[in-house]
Amino acid sequence: MKQLREKIASEGRVLSGEVLKVDSFLNHQIDPKLMQAIGEEFSRRFKNDGVTKILTIESSGIAPAAMAGLTMGIPVVFARKRASLTLTEGLISSEVKSFTKQTVNTISVSGDYVTADDTLLIIDDFLANGQAALGLLDISGQAGAKVAGIGIVIEKGFQNGGKLLREQGVRVESLAIIESLADGKVAFREESEV
Ligand code: 5GP
Repeated sequence: MKQLREKIASEGRVLSGEVLKVDSFLNHQIDPKLMQAIGEEFSRRFKNDGVTKILTIESSGIAPAAMAGLTMGIPVVFARKRASLTLTEGLISSEVKSFTKQTVNTISVSGDYVTADDTLLIIDDFLANGQAALGLLDISGQAGAKVAGIGIVIEKGFQNGGKLLREQGVRVESLAIIESLADGKVAFREESEV
């Protein structure tokens, strides 16, 4: 997605440890116009797949997922990373190792909102080693829901998450794929030239 690649190229900052900082439009401040375009692009790619609900994870998946849900006219559920006072019964949970924080989180959704009647589109901001996506797939499986695919805003193609998921037969659609962050420079993979 050209608009996204241009934004990453102009505002993304490469941190040590092969982490891309995009706090100016995705991970802290949010660019609603760009998020809307991202939501429309996910909708375009998954509109014929019978998706009934979007599943994401707090907090940075919520903005792109909400915009996709708005365009597709379907609800959006986000997995919580922290225990909630009001969300205590009928929880479906999975363990996720955080790439950026190097901690293990239990992520949970209510079985009221993800069920065997659903066909899910899983959306997240980044794909690195695939742990967050695997956790969401695990939750979907526990709920008995079908998964149409995974929509990722920024995939780091030099890490193994994309390969791992695609080898399992999961459809992964990434709007920008980064080939390398070497020498502090962002290099995109050709196939993300959409
Ligand atoms: P994974 O679970 O695929 O290893 O990592 C994905 C999660 O880690 C995303 O939900 C995102 O929050 C975070 N993440 C991974 N790599 C990056 C990165 O380079 N930049 C930012 N901002 N977040 C990242």
